[in-house]
Amino acid sequence: MNCAVCGKTATSYNKQKQPVCSAHLKSEAKAPACPDCGLPMLVRHGKYGSFWGCMAFPSCSGIRKI
Ligand SMILES: [Zn+2]
Ligand SMILES: [Zn+2]
Repeated sequence: MNCAVCGKTATSYNKQKQPVCSAHLKSEAKAPACPDCGLPMLVRHGKYGSFWGCMAFPSCSGIRKI
């Protein structure tokens, strides 16, 4: 099984029962919830700097400032 976020080998499941790698399981523990869909958010890096982006991106485009 592969991480639902990055596609690498997943080692466990998150609260949404999606397979995730250890890095993403850890990042979800402190992640805020998406204002649009409620899923955990991930740190993403855009040309204007870092921000929280919904883990369901691109199907959800919820973002928050870090
Ligand atoms: Zn991952
Ligand atoms: Zn979302």
